[in-house]
Amino acid sequence: MKAAVVEKAKAPIVIEERERPEPGPGEVLIQVEACGICHGDLDVQQGAFPYTDITAYPIVPGHEVAGVVEKVGAGVDWPEKGMKVGMPWLYSSCGHCPACLAGDEVLCAGIDITGVTKDGGFQEYMLAPARHVSALPEGLDFAVAAPLMCAGLTVFTGLRHAGFEPGQKVAITGLGGLGHMGVLYARAMGGRVAVISSSPDKEARARELGAELFINSKKDDVTEALQAWDGGADVILATAPSADIMKACFPGLGRHGTLVVLGVTEDELNFAPTDFILAERRVIGSLIGSRTDIQDALAFAVAHGIKPEITTFTLEQAGEAIGQMLAGTLRGRGVVVMNGG
Ligand SMILES: [Zn+2]
Ligand SMILES: [Zn+2]
Repeated sequence: MKAAVVEKAKAPIVIEERERPEPGPGEVLIQVEACGICHGDLDVQQGAFPYTDITAYPIVPGHEVAGVVEKVGAGVDWPEKGMKVGMPWLYSSCGHCPACLAGDEVLCAGIDITGVTKDGGFQEYMLAPARHVSALPEGLDFAVAAPLMCAGLTVFTGLRHAGFEPGQKVAITGLGGLGHMGVLYARAMGGRVAVISSSPDKEARARELGAELFINSKKDDVTEALQAWDGGADVILATAPSADIMKACFPGLGRHGTLVVLGVTEDELNFAPTDFILAERRVIGSLIGSRTDIQDALAFAVAHGIKPEITTFTLEQAGEAIGQMLAGTLRGRGVVVMNGG
């Protein structure tokens, strides 16, 4: 079988011929049909923060996996061979620590991460712990399901953590893989949406996806523009990996508004204490989502016809796709599709 491998940090992705792995006890072998390309994969390939020290090179990246169970190992009674399944960023958690017991499995200290500490979905077949695959609902193409496993899940769970309610105003920074999914989910959940971007050419796309307001962060005063939006945003999904944008939009939150930090950056985030106090605003982090969140995010996508905008690549083009992501020229979510792209 073919696998796209990063031998070490900053090495280009190369296609290797490998033995098809055999599932051990408790494992399943997934025939990968599609795997989305996340910013995290670029970080793994670059050896960049936050994966600098934890990536198990040589590694097969990819943690937005959609496929079919090809084989099950000893002791596995679910899922069965032939089932359509997805595999997310969370490869496995310990199942018994306080975080796991509280349902916060992504916060488990003993996690393995798909495509970071364990080989991921940029290969024709991958191993996964049976307990951590997610059933894919009927009516989802593999290439559409794949980006929901991280990008869709992350924005869906971010809204959930923020306590979002229908009718509220959601501002989204960035209109990339995460941001455009944020617009789709927030609209379908009954939200009013603003998009904040430094690229004015994204405005038409933002409005097409359902945004009622577009703020050009290079030209407009972001705080003022948000405050002029009927008193400020209730939730900001900060998908752009930029501390400056997060700082610029935070005071644009209305009363009790929540800034949800999703974009990963090494820059420090500083806010004025009064920006918290005077409107009782808060800043929270949100990390991808649990298996429960996945089931809800997938079911919601099917019920509301949420379809990520995708650009497809073959497995051989995985390196090129990562290059386009680095250059910022990738439209929507890149997805590696195994049979033909
Ligand atoms: Zn991801
Ligand atoms: Zn745990």
